[in-house]
Amino acid sequence: MRWDAPALLAEPPETRPRIERTAVTRVHGTLTCYEVRARTALERTAAGWTVSPYRGCAQACRYCSARRGHRYLGLNTGTDFDSQIVVRTDIARRLRAELAARWDGEHITVGVTGDCYQGAEDIYRLMPGIVAALREAGAPFTVHTKSPLILRDAPLLAAAPGVGAVVSIAFVDDQIRRTVEPGAPSAQKRLELVAELNERGVPCGVAMAPILPLLTDSPDQLAATVRRVADAGAVSITPHVLRLPPGAREWYLAWLGERYPALEARYGELYGKGPDADPTYVQRITGQVLQLAARYGMGPTRPEQPLPLALPAHHRQLTLL
Ligand code: SF4
Repeated sequence: MRWDAPALLAEPPETRPRIERTAVTRVHGTLTCYEVRARTALERTAAGWTVSPYRGCAQACRYCSARRGHRYLGLNTGTDFDSQIVVRTDIARRLRAELAARWDGEHITVGVTGDCYQGAEDIYRLMPGIVAALREAGAPFTVHTKSPLILRDAPLLAAAPGVGAVVSIAFVDDQIRRTVEPGAPSAQKRLELVAELNERGVPCGVAMAPILPLLTDSPDQLAATVRRVADAGAVSITPHVLRLPPGAREWYLAWLGERYPALEARYGELYGKGPDADPTYVQRITGQVLQLAARYGMGPTRPEQPLPLALPAHHRQLTLL
């Protein structure tokens, strides 16, 4: 089976990305940040309300479903997504206004188009303002992250009623993690993060996401991951099998072809019909994880707190700035 990865990788860069026309560009080491004013802060998606201070993510997960959004900025969905980050500098102010004007009281997911505690947050410190705005509005919300930087705001988060955190840990094999999530902390660090957030009064669950077919889905691998998540004291565990929407698909499959060429044909069979893996496979794997989790008294995250990166692909194209 042939994939369209080469087409994406050869995408000619525009001489001047569209985003540069409307943003203030600042370079911080290896990161280029495009500072913009947010047109909107709250996004309404099929999975509920979301708010995201950043678009793009230096944690650089090959499979990231948010990659496609960079195409609409005149940037590529591969290396540009990993190193060129849109920063919505006035997001807390806008969020406060929108919570008062058009929010309907439903759950809000924070950190959809890029990890909200990635390295750029150390520079821009947008999350304390977002958390304060949500707390003042009495909004129930969940912060999704892989980054220990969230601990900086643990006192603020713990003081917010209806808050939750979800840390993604799909596998505990650090060799795979180093290549498929090159900018993200190790599984061990994330497990410690789960424990510490719970100790500090921020209820924290785990998104076992994404489980990578044929790489991290053996019964032993699933059992080892669930056991360590349970040992860390996670309040929930929710399995998600890898999705490959456009943007993520090309970038992930290019990686697979370089590292595991023998698996390409099998991926062709699993993902031949679209972004989701074959439903029988998905049911089998998620069923196994839920059974394992039940042994430790754990269940999935509540339905009103979905994994943001499991949103349907077309929702990734909403308001760009
Ligand atoms: S999956 Fe999450 S941590 Fe990884 S690149 Fe995407 S937004 Fe960042």
